[in-house]
This record gives sequence, C-alpha cells and structure tokens, in this order.
Amino acid sequence: MKAISVLGSTGSIGTQTLQISEEFPEQFRVVALTAGRNLDLLVQQIQRHRPELVALANADLLPELQQRLDDLGSDQQLPQLVGGPDGLNIAASWDSADLVVTGIVGCAGLLPTLAAIRAGKDLALANKETLIAAGPVVLPELKRSGSRLLPADSEHSAIFQCLQGTPWAENARLSTGVPTPGLRRIQLTASGGAFRDWKAEDLENATVAYATSHPNWSMGRKITVDSASLMNKGLEVIEAHYLFGLDYDHIEIVIHPQSIIHSMIELDDSSVVAQLGWPDMKLPILYCLSWPSRLETPWRRLDLTEVGQLTFRSPDPAKYPCMQLAYEAGRAGGTMPAVMNAANEEAVAQFLEEKIHFLDIPVVIEAACERHKADLISHPQLEDVLAVDQWARKAVREQVQRGTTRVPLAALAA
Ligand code: NDP
Repeated sequence: MKAISVLGSTGSIGTQTLQISEEFPEQFRVVALTAGRNLDLLVQQIQRHRPELVALANADLLPELQQRLDDLGSDQQLPQLVGGPDGLNIAASWDSADLVVTGIVGCAGLLPTLAAIRAGKDLALANKETLIAAGPVVLPELKRSGSRLLPADSEHSAIFQCLQGTPWAENARLSTGVPTPGLRRIQLTASGGAFRDWKAEDLENATVAYATSHPNWSMGRKITVDSASLMNKGLEVIEAHYLFGLDYDHIEIVIHPQSIIHSMIELDDSSVVAQLGWPDMKLPILYCLSWPSRLETPWRRLDLTEVGQLTFRSPDPAKYPCMQLAYEAGRAGGTMPAVMNAANEEAVAQFLEEKIHFLDIPVVIEAACERHKADLISHPQLEDVLAVDQWARKAVREQVQRGTTRVPLAALAA
C-alpha cells in the first residue's frame, strides 16, 4: 500500500486524488493533507480519510479547525494540526508518506515541493508553476535527492506514458532536464479553452463568467483562465522543456478541440506515438500513483466511433499572445519564466476580481517581462526566484493601479 500526502487537498487535483484513494483502498492510504481556506471540505476529508497530519496554509485558521474537529465529538484519532509555511513543508516531507501529490495552485507550491524533494519523496507533479518558476533550482535538487518526478499534468503524463514504450524508458523516467535520447519533437495538444470558437476581435466581450467555463475539463479557476488565454499551454511548453530536456524549437502546440489525444511524441525515425483517453484528470493522477504498474479501473472506456472525428489546427498567435510570451520567457531562461509566471498569476487574480479586462492579461505580463530583461539572472538561486516572483507581482499591481494601456491584439502578435 502506498502512503500519500496530498498538498492542496481541497482543490480540483486534491479532491480527485482523494476520490482515487477511496476507489482503491487496498492500494492507497492518505497520511497527510494540506488546504488553504476551505475548512468545510477539509473537515469532511479528515473524517473520511483519517490522515495523520493536516496542514493549513493560513495558520490563523488553526483554532477554528481544531474547534470544528473537537465539536465532532468523534472517538476517531484526530490528526496532528500544523499551519503556515512550515506546516506545509512538514506535510510535504511527512515521514510515512511515499509519494506527495502537489495540488497547490501557483508559486505557493514551490517551497513545499522543494521540501518534498529534499526529503527524498516521489512526486506527482500537478503544480506546474513550481517547475516553470524554479526549474533551474528544482532540477539539481531532484538529482541530489533521487526523488522521482511523475508528471500529473495530462499532456506531460501522455508524453511520459509514450516514452515508456521506448528503449530509453529508464532514462525518460523522471526527469532531470537531460535530453531524452531518440525524442525529436513533442506536440502538446490544447483544447483551445473557453474562447476557442471565438474570433480574436470578439475577445473584447470576454468576461470572467465566460473565461472560467472550460469546454472539456473541470479544473480550478486559475488554470481555467490560463486555458482560455492559452497561457496554460505556454506554461506546459516550459514544463515540457524542463521535464524532457527538449529545446523550445521542438516543443509545439496544436489545438485539438476534442481533447482525446493528450499529447504526442515524434521519435528519430519519424514515428509519432500518442496517448488517448477521455478528458478526465483522474487517469493521469492514477498513473502517477500506480506507476510503474497500471490498475484495472471500471472507468468509461474510450470509443472512437462515439468521438467520431479528431481535428487539429495551429493556434492563432494573434488571438493567443500569452502563448508567445511563454515561449519568449522560456527561451530567455534564468529568472524570466519566474517573472512571467508571477505576472500571470497576479494578472489572472486581478482579472478574476474584475479589475482588469481579459485582454489586459498579456499586456501586463509583457510589461513585467520587458522591465525584467535588464535584471535577468541566468543561473538563479532559490532566493533569486523568490525575489523576482515578489517583484513581478508588485509590478503588475502597480501597473493595474496606474491603469493599463491595452495594445491591439495584432500589434502584440507582430
Ligand atoms: P484549485 O484552485 O482547484 O485548488 C488549489 C488548492 O491549493 C486548494 O486546495 C487551495 O486551498 C490550495 N491553495 C490555494 N492557495 C494556496 C496557498 N497560498 N498556499 C497553500 N495552499 C493554497 O487548483 P487546481 O486543483 O485546479 O490546480 C492545482 C495545480 O494543479 C495548479 O498548479 C494547476 O496548474 C495544476 N493542474 C491542475 C489541473 C486540473 O485539472 N485542475 C490539470 C493539470 C494541472 P483552499 O481551496 O482550501 O483555499
């Protein structure tokens, strides 16, 4: 039985991980949970899964959580409660955990992820922002500790699964940014997000309600907005670069509205290998938990005759400037992806609070990246990443306060 620590247990990735653990009680046992603010759901999860440890990001909420658990009057053993950044690190490195699922959203997941790596834990990596912001810090730590990084993102799981069928499976395993031999090209598929059928000029009418309704996947709000702007795919390009060691010219994005092919790899002999399935995050999460085995599930089987057709098109750079910004930040390397990631997190937060328009998101990100060019650090340490992260958030907040001057989409793409 594998013991699991679930970081961000109250989120979309976290709840799906707990569902899997309930479906396979002989295989998985939950030993630690972390949450942000959702105490209602957390209390239910504690009752069902009886973890040894629970960490709350906001330590101020600990007394309320303690009270709620006391009020249950249950004779079940209560978990140890911890809070704040140290509490998250304790959950991430919890002694009895074999594997840590990183379902915290945003760069807030960075320090707990590093804590898990330093404790030598295997990781199911959902929290892509960690690798994007701090790839140059995380990869050497992985090498040092021997932790294995299993990608939970559906596209990277697909690539990882495709690589299992190659003679270099051992090498492709688990990601220290070293080029994977025989791997020539990666094609990341993208649903196209909430606005995939909109014309670029109609994005003037994009609202929070539209941007947070994804056609294929059910996910947290931040990643759903990232999908609508295609920033999510841009972040995944950088994630793929760090995971599989390919340069940016060999990582491509293709819009595939049905989300049945979860990504493809092209090998040296020109063969293309793909992984297919219904769009359901439980499958890549399960593969992380069960790897290198596969468990039999009662889940819906893929029927291509039901799907009918699989279609593909190139993403329109004029419509999706965030995608371009991500490629540019990835190519610049060093601290630039951390700046772009933090600027995006802040911009999306401002958009969700309706302080800026959807079309302002790339404008403020680009401005932050431009300003950072002169200060870019090519080989950053952790402190550098944390410092530029804070700087970029502040730069975006200040720009929003001043008011953005939106550039026409066509000019951004030029
Ligand atoms: P959600 O917003 O649904 O959940 C986020 C989780 O993180 C919640 O448990 C939340 O707690 C917690 N959290 C929020 N802020 C903080 C903080 N500052 N410190 C500690 N914990 C915090 O996000 P998702 O599950 O959608 O995404 C999680 C990660 O997985 C993201 O990095 C995303 O890019 C990635 N991912 C998600 C996919 C999906 O299908 N959802 C697919 C592929 C990748 P609370 O709610 O209690 O406040």
